[in-house]
Amino acid sequence: MTKCPCCSGKEFADCCEPHLLMKAKPLSARAMVRARYCAYALGAGTHREFLMRTWHPATPQQVNLADLTNDNYEWTGLDILKAEQKGDRAWVEFNATYKDTAGKPHTHHETSLFERIQGVWLYLDGQVQES
Ligand SMILES: [Zn+2]
Repeated sequence: MTKCPCCSGKEFADCCEPHLLMKAKPLSARAMVRARYCAYALGAGTHREFLMRTWHPATPQQVNLADLTNDNYEWTGLDILKAEQKGDRAWVEFNATYKDTAGKPHTHHETSLFERIQGVWLYLDGQVQES
């Protein structure tokens, strides 16, 4: 058994794996952040379909494709700082750490906005601060 890459402390099979395999829908935006982080950590190329399906249709496609080319980073951790929900909208603030191709550590600090459509939390927008 392997621990989930999202740092939840749970087994991968009991955490994000069913979401990535699209066997189960994340019930909260927080769970969706975890699943999307895992998709990046395990290879955005491999989990491209999951990532594409969890983007809100209103999010520009160019941004998506640019994002998916960042497959060379080594993702090293996820820390969810804050999650708020109001009806079908949710905000999740998190830090995701990664190393670039030169091995230099970075922190991706983002507040993501999600909208729930037909029971699925979709990634609408994010405010990003890189360091
Ligand atoms: Zn997980």
